[in-house]
Amino acid sequence: MPVLVMKFGGTSVATLDRIKRAAKRVGVEVAKGYDVIVIVSAMSGETNKLVGFVGETSPMYDAREYDAVVSSGENVTAGLMALTLQEMDVPARSWQGWQVPVKTTDAHSNARIEEIPTDNITAKFGEGMRVAVVAGFQGVSDEGRITTLGRGGSDTTAVAFAAAFDAERCDIYTDVDGVYTTDPRVTDKARKLDKIAFEEMLELASLGAKVLQTRSVELAMRYKVRLRVLSSFEEQSDEAGTLVCAEEEIMESNVVAGVAFSREEAKMTLISVADRPGIAASIFGPLAEAGVNVDMIVQNISEEGRTDMTFSCPIDQVARAQKAMADAKEAGDINFHDLVADQEVAKVSIVGIGMRSHAGIAAKMFQTLRDEGVNIKVIATSEIKVSVLIDRKYMELAVQSLHDAFGLEKAA
Ligand code: ADP
Ligand code: ASP
Ligand code: MG
Repeated sequence: MPVLVMKFGGTSVATLDRIKRAAKRVGVEVAKGYDVIVIVSAMSGETNKLVGFVGETSPMYDAREYDAVVSSGENVTAGLMALTLQEMDVPARSWQGWQVPVKTTDAHSNARIEEIPTDNITAKFGEGMRVAVVAGFQGVSDEGRITTLGRGGSDTTAVAFAAAFDAERCDIYTDVDGVYTTDPRVTDKARKLDKIAFEEMLELASLGAKVLQTRSVELAMRYKVRLRVLSSFEEQSDEAGTLVCAEEEIMESNVVAGVAFSREEAKMTLISVADRPGIAASIFGPLAEAGVNVDMIVQNISEEGRTDMTFSCPIDQVARAQKAMADAKEAGDINFHDLVADQEVAKVSIVGIGMRSHAGIAAKMFQTLRDEGVNIKVIATSEIKVSVLIDRKYMELAVQSLHDAFGLEKAA
């Protein structure tokens, strides 16, 4: 029988009533003849609570135990979903990551899926089970320890299962009815897209649009999974939601497809470093080794052989970056006067594959921000995106004005 993957996020399984509603959706697909793999998140708020417990117990926690704790929210919803389906006379069974097993790297709290053997679940389907309910977000390392896939990781579990089982589609049920031109919480002018290209979704996700975890889009693109985002709160047809697909499948689209933003950025400036060959390597080498994900970089013009070097990184990596730089200074590898961290910044980005063939998009973005009196601190561009770092207090204003300036309210 054809396999369908259906993933329900935290708000979609937040109460027993919502689990029941989700289970009914699953029942509809089972009745159509699909064998269904349901991926569940923890009830909304649950993972945050568990992360909080870990931090309170042990500020410099052991990542293996972090995973043991934070993965547990999904175990509860997987069991409850299987029970709910059984109550509806749908043959269902729950699976934790290690039972499948979802084999991952041992990069605790941010592991990558390496392999999902299909034999266990396929055998059960063969015996009459119609729904495998799998706890999202978790897997097991070679050493047999529980791992987690990074926040939002259930999306990635879902796409990985769709690829492994060659599913007809991977449906991501969430609290919005699709992918919008920007987060609908920031402007009510945000418009739902019927389709979005993998490349665009990948950029939007990696630049902060939390509707899909970045890695899930990467996997969908690589394995050609038909990925759909839709609401678990509304009655759904086969055409509902947003299809994330190859760009060839999209006839018309705006030059700019969407605006993304991230509040979780920090701007770090090394004041007065020697401007000599190899200086970038001796700064960014140790940062990389310390696991700091540097994003944007600017080097100022130098004066008397010294310059300032600015970079951005996730706000929760500031302490790590400071330590790496202090250690490198102590070891005599670099010399600088000061390291200034600005934690009141946000990154706002415009994304669209149309930018490849249209000039002047970045200029228009800068003019729009100028007209609003928003100062740009750092700029980064690629073929299909332009990102700026600005004061966080102007983030909403910037998103709204860019959404207006590029006419995203209306379809192409
Ligand atoms: P789930 O718990 O179902 O995984 P998430 O909270 O992770 O849900 O993702 C859904 C949220 O993503 C939406 O409520 C919305 O606020 C946010 N979001 C950010 N950018 C976008 C976008 N471009 N389109 C739709 N939703 C977005
Ligand atoms: N429960 C996990 C989180 O909140 C995984 C997920 O929901 O995708 O990050
Ligand atoms: Mg999510």
